[in-house]
Amino acid sequence: MKKYALLFLCLLILIVPSQAFAERKVPILIYHSIDEFTGHGSKELYVTPKNFEEQMIYLRDHGYTLLTFERWQDIDKVNKPIFITFDDGYKNNLNVFTTFQKLKTDQFHPSGTFFVISDFIGRSNRLSKSDLKMLAISGLISIQSHTATHPDLTKIKNYEYELKESSDKIQQITGKPVIALAYPYGKYNDKVIAETKKSYQFGLTTIPEPFYEKGTKNERYLLPRIYVKYSTTIEEFAKIVDGL
Ligand SMILES: [Zn+2]
Repeated sequence: MKKYALLFLCLLILIVPSQAFAERKVPILIYHSIDEFTGHGSKELYVTPKNFEEQMIYLRDHGYTLLTFERWQDIDKVNKPIFITFDDGYKNNLNVFTTFQKLKTDQFHPSGTFFVISDFIGRSNRLSKSDLKMLAISGLISIQSHTATHPDLTKIKNYEYELKESSDKIQQITGKPVIALAYPYGKYNDKVIAETKKSYQFGLTTIPEPFYEKGTKNERYLLPRIYVKYSTTIEEFAKIVDGL
């Protein structure tokens, strides 16, 4: 009888963690502007500050842990891991910082990743050097790269400039490591991945699904991201993050 109990326990240890592991889906959300839409650009790339706050309150009240890529190894350790990312480094992303500060408590630590275009830093509608420094120091925002000039990476040759020099420039401003790259337009190929690997630990696409570990080659350079849009209702947001 003892023998069977032991066998059962061994089987349980073997089966349970691998199943829990296989089913763990981690949403990585992508936003652009957090602002009122005033008629410039594509409306669906905006989320109003009010809707954004409502979405972050949903995450807080449902026990999510907001992670940045420096804490990648924690996805197996924390409750309901989720990544919140913002592309293009718009000035209006300061609204993200304001919302995070407002919602921050001892129990809830909001954090997010801004993917900035290094040559656009300081333009009138983009975050400035001093914004980026302040955000990085706050501990609420991780500043990462979205290349130097936002090209289609599958069509260029100057990878050194777009990838390595962009990373170096951001690192110089924030004083923190740059480890993740968001591919402009979500475009990549084998060459782009090989070049990204030289300077980054993660590459972000716009494949619209949650991440789950499959153990495939280049998995960390093919991270999927799900869009949150102007028209996304809080019910739809709940379905996206709950993986329904
Ligand atoms: Zn972009």
